[in-house]
Amino acid sequence: MLKRLQPVWCLISLLILLFPSAGQQPDPRAEVLSLRYHQHPEFFRIVLEIEKIREFYSAELKDPERLYLDIFQARLKSGLHGTSYQINSPGVKIMRLAQKNPSTVRLTIELVPGAKQSEKIYYLKNPNRLVVDVYARPGPEKSAPRPPASSSSSGSRPSGSETAARDSSPQPPSPSASGYSLVRQLGLGVKRIVLDPGHGGTDPGCISPSGLKEKDVALDLARRLKTMLETQGKFEVFLTRETDLSLPLEKRTAFANQKGADLFISIHLNASPRKNRTGVETFYLNFSPDPAVNELAARENASSTKNIREMKLIVDKIIKNSKYEESRDLAEKIHSSLLQHLKHNFGPRDDLGVKGGPFWVLIGSEMPAVLVEASHLSNAKEEAALKTETYREAVAAGLFRGIMEYVKSLGKG
Ligand SMILES: [Zn+2]
Repeated sequence: MLKRLQPVWCLISLLILLFPSAGQQPDPRAEVLSLRYHQHPEFFRIVLEIEKIREFYSAELKDPERLYLDIFQARLKSGLHGTSYQINSPGVKIMRLAQKNPSTVRLTIELVPGAKQSEKIYYLKNPNRLVVDVYARPGPEKSAPRPPASSSSSGSRPSGSETAARDSSPQPPSPSASGYSLVRQLGLGVKRIVLDPGHGGTDPGCISPSGLKEKDVALDLARRLKTMLETQGKFEVFLTRETDLSLPLEKRTAFANQKGADLFISIHLNASPRKNRTGVETFYLNFSPDPAVNELAARENASSTKNIREMKLIVDKIIKNSKYEESRDLAEKIHSSLLQHLKHNFGPRDDLGVKGGPFWVLIGSEMPAVLVEASHLSNAKEEAALKTETYREAVAAGLFRGIMEYVKSLGKG
């Protein structure tokens, strides 16, 4: 079902777009300071010096064959936007730097058609550098005139103001087969948290037999959790909606990205045709072979206008990204904390597990993102409990402890 944008929300979005640095918040974007490159005997190396480590993702495009790298929460130093570099290397033809949108920097690497064998992309510290090594396929015409390792840069000067310089960075750490977590490796902490109360406005979410609406309970839980987190004195916490407001799923993560949030937690309540089903179920973004998970995702996705094919294209890219591992980690911490807390205070309930699921609301987030189905409105006992202050406070406390455990696990708590 198509959702109308609320005028108030439109106004807020517009203000954020027009005045990204309005208000007291410091600019969360890291400055990309320079680009250097060098042809090594085995690979072509590109080094972006960046003020702070930021998440990125990369993908390949055809016609012309190219590799691009999007760095999130980043801005280009003045003069670098639109800079292009003509390269004479076995694998790389041209590089371009651009501010793709206010919060994303894009490096485009146009490749010699059919020449690229592989690439490695990784961070190095002191100073912070994002490094791209492009390995060309060995071929008689490509391997013959390689410059010696000790030569100066083989690159021409860029058309912009930056000078190309030889980079002698050490070899990268090898990522494990399952990928590695940037957040963990680089010791990034958590400062801003966006809580997303599910549904709202014309979308009530699920409704209990006695008329309790998911959108209302979710908002109340999010407010309680916000208070608990703020009491810690070290987090800034934002809600995607403060009132009973219709809000498209895509807008929710966009809001978190604009806020430069470090975590995104979408709060929901479950409903099942099996009335005796209770407990907690927590999700991170992925595809699932489980029909029950897909059924739930379809319900939670009901207000989106996009189709599942579009989603597959996006998810395929995202699961290559480090956010996937961090999101699973965050989901596990939140899940076990909430479940244990509820069991301890209110007796046994089902552990429905931590799962991957295709939820639109988790797509596009530039930070670890999870969706938690905190209890069941379809179960008489949990529904009755959800009407009480004590139980709602306990759910919020369970979520709070899970978030704190995750923060501590980063070594920054
Ligand atoms: Zn929901």
